[in-house]
Amino acid sequence: MKTLKFGGTSVANANNIKLVKDIVSQNQVPTVVVVSAFGGVTDLLLNALDLAAKNEIGYKEILSQIEERHFNAIKLLFPVAIHSGLISKVKSELNDLETLLEGAFLIGETTQRLSDKVVSYGELLSSYLISEHFKAEGLDAILKNGRELIITNDNFGNASVNFSKTNEQVAAFFENNSHKITVVPGFVAATEDGDATTLGRGGSDFTAAILAAATNSEILEIWTDVSGMYTANPKLVKQAKCVAHISYEEAMELSHFGAKVLYPPTIQPVLNKEIPIVIKNTFEPEQEGTLITKNTNGEGKTVRGISHIGNISLLSLEGPGMVGIPGISKRFFETISQIGVSVVLITQASSEHSICIGIADKDVANASKAVNLAFEYEIASKKIHPVKVETDLAIVALVGDNMKSHQGLSGKMFSTLGKNNVNIRAIAQGASERNISTVIDKKDIKKALNALHEAFFEENIKQLNLFVMGCGNVGSKLLQQLQQQHSYLKKELKLNVRVIGIANSRKMVFQEGGIDLSNWQDTLDSGTIANQEAFISKIKELNYRNSIFVDNTANATVAATYSDYLKNSISVVTCNKIACSSEYQNYLSLKQLAKKYNAPFLFETNVGAGLPILDTLKHLIVSGDKVKKIQAVLSGSLNFVFNNFNGETTFHDVVKQAQVQGYTEPDPTIDLSGIDVARKILILARESGYHLELTDIENEAFLPEESLQTNSNEAFFNTLVKYESDFQKRYKNAADKGCKLKYVAQFENGKAKVGLQEIPQGHDFYNLEGSDNIVLFYTERYPQQPLIIKGAGAGADVTASGIFADIVRIGNF
Ligand code: ADP
Ligand code: ASP
Ligand code: MG
Repeated sequence: MKTLKFGGTSVANANNIKLVKDIVSQNQVPTVVVVSAFGGVTDLLLNALDLAAKNEIGYKEILSQIEERHFNAIKLLFPVAIHSGLISKVKSELNDLETLLEGAFLIGETTQRLSDKVVSYGELLSSYLISEHFKAEGLDAILKNGRELIITNDNFGNASVNFSKTNEQVAAFFENNSHKITVVPGFVAATEDGDATTLGRGGSDFTAAILAAATNSEILEIWTDVSGMYTANPKLVKQAKCVAHISYEEAMELSHFGAKVLYPPTIQPVLNKEIPIVIKNTFEPEQEGTLITKNTNGEGKTVRGISHIGNISLLSLEGPGMVGIPGISKRFFETISQIGVSVVLITQASSEHSICIGIADKDVANASKAVNLAFEYEIASKKIHPVKVETDLAIVALVGDNMKSHQGLSGKMFSTLGKNNVNIRAIAQGASERNISTVIDKKDIKKALNALHEAFFEENIKQLNLFVMGCGNVGSKLLQQLQQQHSYLKKELKLNVRVIGIANSRKMVFQEGGIDLSNWQDTLDSGTIANQEAFISKIKELNYRNSIFVDNTANATVAATYSDYLKNSISVVTCNKIACSSEYQNYLSLKQLAKKYNAPFLFETNVGAGLPILDTLKHLIVSGDKVKKIQAVLSGSLNFVFNNFNGETTFHDVVKQAQVQGYTEPDPTIDLSGIDVARKILILARESGYHLELTDIENEAFLPEESLQTNSNEAFFNTLVKYESDFQKRYKNAADKGCKLKYVAQFENGKAKVGLQEIPQGHDFYNLEGSDNIVLFYTERYPQQPLIIKGAGAGADVTASGIFADIVRIGNF
């Protein structure tokens, strides 16, 4: 004998029922087939009753939907000749149902007892039609009402099974049943007096397990809409994988903590008889599925799955009067149990100062009322505080048989959640050490599951979620590089880098699965109007793990938003110098936020574009070195200008060329005034550990005041024409001495200055080509011969690759 159970989705409509028939008909041995109600019908029945009991006539509309679902199935499953017989049988059942609902409507209330009667119609109707379909297709099938097999007490809504009576009934029936297939409605049962009861939501699994055990089935097959028990709910975690083999205890623990694929009580009846369970997918029957047996011989991993329960509340009883007083917990738990509330999780501080339990949100009002009443005296005398309630929480649990013999799992769990800014409200570890549970905010479920799944099951691949603002010269190069290197990063660095959001000054767009970078321009064009606040709110709402905000703008208002990102544990990568060169206090506070919220704040490209200047400096400092002096040519733009300004060209034309080729900031005065270089030396000094403000930096301007005062690019270029002869003079003075003009930044003895200098032949700076940058670090370890970093220090390509490098650094964080 075999027992097969088909869930709601598997029997949701005529097409699916045909698949079920194919699966059932392939079995050679006698088979018990347990079926759920057509998917969604149980909810419809409960809604209808709820409306009727509230005197709302809308229940009739729901009733007709239920009727239509069943009539449609009849039309598609059976030859026309037998439609009328089937329709009139279904209609007569629905008439009885309507009478029950009318009753509730008239008296304006309902009871659990009535609810069980009403809700049973889902399985009664589905099992009837499915068994008739089997017969019509020539299978040797019979329908047996579950109420005549499964006997329970009268705890309506969630009745307890009387196993000895049930086993007797089942044995008696099967002794005289010679049909090859016995179809039984799941979920429904009855008391000894014949009153309709049910086994709890999801209870068809339980019906199947009870029958499998009672008939000594060789196997229990649970056919559903996923291909087995997964490492996490596959609907929330895309990377979840099917677990091939799992123990009864592990499956029980996973289902208890929310893996709905198996109703928790299902395991017990089959466990005693060691009947294996297989979870299979009705829609992909060729998939192996999951095998659940007694032992798994320690195969596989320590953590087998991650599950979660939403809609949880924490209820805490606290107070000085609890310490050392015996019997408080007993009274507390008795109170909770008397009102029929089930406790999902318990934690108690060792000081005995508080007890905290996790219960369903829906029970919290009743439970807190009952506990406050039970401890009325202690609360009045201030020995105990009134119960504290926190709602809208969720439990996330790691489960595995072998977890007990491994240290460090909880540490890894908490640090993974911490890094992603998931606040842990309570922690519990089952005495079996088969699970570690945490209580978190409900809104963080998806992020927590995915981050934990990545940490425990995808050690090899880490997903980074990017939100890119600014896609001009640098931004578009970055997107191009990300697209080009996507497979490389995945294969070689185990980083799956996805761009989820893109914005420029006009438009913004988000795609949850990642934007196709071969076509991001069109996607962005079809986006919505750009807006800083909406951008960050959307990122917060998506609440992805490993989120990185990338600022490719030179915009002060964007720089002002970094703290908001960091406070939400969203890392920030920027080539925008404004934040790091703003008031020292702001720079410092961003660095502190980054530490506090475990969200890196990286800005390598603020100095020397893609050259690893800040990273090198960081390594010097962390290894204990001290910076004494810095000399540098840090402006790729000014270098380009003074390398090409050679007495044969005009200053105006050279600056124009630099602008056109993207070597200057969009506003070239930022470069030519020396401000940009001043910002860079300021950042170098700060990163070397010195407290400096931009105003502390001496800036010997070489541009006439008039050029600096212009307020448009056009006006600026006009002044360059006007003062051409001054620029020529400056060049000639230097050239006559065999010197070249370089714009130099210097930091020494805590002071920094920037300005144009005449550099003689033989100096490290003399031969600097094109837009190259050079930095000389004189430190305690490099006192005479400086540490030199030199190379291209401007240009969209190299800046983009510097940003890219920061993103990869975060990936390895
Ligand atoms: P049925 O109607 O067949 O009984 P259920 O909806 O009760 O199906 O259970 C199957 C669902 O369980 C899946 O669609 C999936 O969303 C959910 N689920 C939750 N956790 C897991 C898990 N760890 N593995 C597989 N499915 C899971
Ligand atoms: N139909 C019931 C429910 O939806 C039982 C089941 O499908 O397992 O809860
Ligand atoms: Mg189910």
